[in-house]
Amino acid sequence: MDYYEILGVEKNATKEELKKAFRQKARQYHPDVNKAPDAAEKFKEIGKAYETLSDDNKREIYDRYGEDGLTNAGFNPNSFNMGDIDLSDIFSSFFGGGFGGFSSSYSQDPNAPVEGDDLRLDIEIDFLEACFGLEKEIKVRHLEPCTDCNSTGMDKNAKDTICPVCKGKGRVQKSTRTILGSFTSVTTCPNCHGSGKNPKAYCKTCHGVGAVEKEKNITIKIPHGVENGSKMRVAHEGDAGKNGGRPGDLYVVIHTKPSKEFVRQGFDIYTELEITTPQAVLGDEVKVNTIHGETIIKIPQGVQNGDKLTLKNMGVPYLGSEIQRGMHYITLKVGVPKKLSREEEKLYRELFILSKQQEKEGLLNKVKSALGK
Ligand SMILES: [Zn+2]
Ligand SMILES: [Zn+2]
Repeated sequence: MDYYEILGVEKNATKEELKKAFRQKARQYHPDVNKAPDAAEKFKEIGKAYETLSDDNKREIYDRYGEDGLTNAGFNPNSFNMGDIDLSDIFSSFFGGGFGGFSSSYSQDPNAPVEGDDLRLDIEIDFLEACFGLEKEIKVRHLEPCTDCNSTGMDKNAKDTICPVCKGKGRVQKSTRTILGSFTSVTTCPNCHGSGKNPKAYCKTCHGVGAVEKEKNITIKIPHGVENGSKMRVAHEGDAGKNGGRPGDLYVVIHTKPSKEFVRQGFDIYTELEITTPQAVLGDEVKVNTIHGETIIKIPQGVQNGDKLTLKNMGVPYLGSEIQRGMHYITLKVGVPKKLSREEEKLYRELFILSKQQEKEGLLNKVKSALGK
C-alpha cells in the first residue's frame, strides 16, 4: 500500500502534517493500546511509512521510484523496528511533549499537568442554513478522561506504581566512555518511556494513557451569517488533558454548499432575472425568490440589459446582529426573442415601421432647424 495512503495524507503533505498524521495513527494502532490482532502489523506499516517520508532523502527516492527504489538505493524499508518509536512521542500530549531533545524537556516533571490536544472537525451545511444559522448535532471522537483510573493511567489496585528503573524520574543517566573521556548523558527511561510510572501497573482500560477514545454527540449552535470556512471553537471538547491539565478545544470548520439559485458575497446576495423586451420597455411587477422567500418587485420602465435592482435588507443577516442584513442585488437580463408568433411578428413590424418613420422625421427636423425654418 502507498505510504501516503497508510498515513492518510496528501502527496504534498508538509513535515508537520506527516508528523501529526503519524501521531494520530500510531496512537490508534500502538499495540500497547490497541489489542486487535493486526494492530502490531498496522503499527509497523505506519512506522515504516513515516520513517521513510519524514526523511527528505528517502521521501524523494520513494516519490520517484517507490519502495523498490529505496531498496535499490541501499535502504531497507522493512528494517523499521517497532521499538524505534517511543510511546512518549506518540502520547506526548500526555507526557509533557518534547521528549526527543536533551535539554529543557528533561527538566519537566512527568507528573505535571498537560493540556489536551485541540481537535478539528470539518462539517458541511446547506447554503440557507449558513444564512440563518441552526442547531446541529455533531459527532466527535476525542479522548475522554478514563473513569476506571480517575485518569491517572494507573491501576487502582496496583502497589508498585513507580517505575523501578528510573525511580519515577522518567529519565536515566548513561555513561559513555570515549577516547576523550567519560561522558554522562541523560535519556528517556526505556522502561516507562518517560512517564516515571511502572508500565506493569498501568490501568487495564487506558493502558497508562489516562484517557480513552470515545465518540460523543454534541449539539452546537451555528449562528446566522457564517461564511464558508468559518471556524467555531467548542471549548473543552478536544482531547482530555493529563495529570489534571485542562482539555483541548474542538474547532469546527464549517463548509457551506453552494446554492443553485443564489450567489453570496459577504452578506450580500446576487441573482439574475430574465425579463422580456416588452417588460424592459414598459416596466412590470414580477415575483422573485429571495433567501427570505418570495417577494414582488417593481421593474421600472425603460430598464436596460445589465441594470441592477437593489432589494434592501433582503440579504444575509449579519453575523452577530439581530437587525442588520445585507442587500440582494438583481441583475436584469433582457431577452430578445429568437422565435416570434405571427401575432408578435405583426406587432414588431408595426413597431419597426413606426421607428423608421420617427427616424426620418427626426432627420427632417434636423434639416429644417439647420435651414432655420
Ligand atoms: Zn522509568
Ligand atoms: Zn485508565
